[in-house]
Amino acid sequence: MIRILAKAVVVTALFCAGGSFGRDAEQLEIGSAKIFIEFEAEPPLHLHELVRDWVKASAHAVTIYYEKFPVNEVHILLRLFNGRGTRSGHTNGWKGSSIRIAVGKSSTTSDFAEDWMMTHEMVHLAFPSVADAHHWIEEGLATYVEPVARARAGDLTPEKVWGDLMEGLPKGLPGPEDQGLDFTPTWGRTYWGGALFCLLADIELRKRTGNRKGLEDALRAVLAAGGTIETEWPLTKALRIGDDATGVPVLSELYEKMKASPSPVDLNDLWKQLGVEKKKGRIQFNDSAPLAATRRTITSAERDSIH
Ligand SMILES: [Zn+2]
Repeated sequence: MIRILAKAVVVTALFCAGGSFGRDAEQLEIGSAKIFIEFEAEPPLHLHELVRDWVKASAHAVTIYYEKFPVNEVHILLRLFNGRGTRSGHTNGWKGSSIRIAVGKSSTTSDFAEDWMMTHEMVHLAFPSVADAHHWIEEGLATYVEPVARARAGDLTPEKVWGDLMEGLPKGLPGPEDQGLDFTPTWGRTYWGGALFCLLADIELRKRTGNRKGLEDALRAVLAAGGTIETEWPLTKALRIGDDATGVPVLSELYEKMKASPSPVDLNDLWKQLGVEKKKGRIQFNDSAPLAATRRTITSAERDSIH
């Protein structure tokens, strides 16, 4: 099967309309979804185009991963600060989807190219709101899917993605007092512990299906069943829908294992299995490692993913 090609995802800029900030909003269309971009105050002239391209690139990556933009309509509300870069992203599904994010007035093309925050926030759109105890799945998905989606869109190299996972995932390992993901709401366990759950699920899904199904197949099914941030679901419902779609109960089983006990993971062994090595500060891949094909499938750009 040939999966959708990156270039087949078209994002078009349309017209202006009144926005939530009471100012004009620019509207982008991606498939049948509408994205409204609204500034709280008039930004410097150069920022309009940079922000538009940034939102487009993020929407493009998320659409490649999920095979559709997650919600029919989202309002992106931009605040401005003096300086460069992005800050304080927050996504909300109450009374329609919105993403609030602050943008530095002096930001340049490279600041937006390096930014992960907009894609992270858009990934939040693609999963139902769950009880506070499961906040780790919301942040874990956003932390894990964001770089994978950008790699598939060709915006990040696999070396960058695996290097960042190698650096970040140790922060998600259980400490001595750990009581499992549902009962240890620390920053590390919420963001990186959740991301570890996602990576382990992705690998196990590919192991059990001969690399034919991955985490994205489960997540696309959740989305197809209406599981966006605009709804509230029990976590078990989302996991069951994902498992039904892939034909293997990987998500439910992994949740049972990790929800109330520490479940330590030997990350060094995992990198060895995947064929990811760090030598003299550079990431190198070993294609004869047992899970090398799994690693390649997870971060290959879509134009290469013909199978
Ligand atoms: Zn988040």
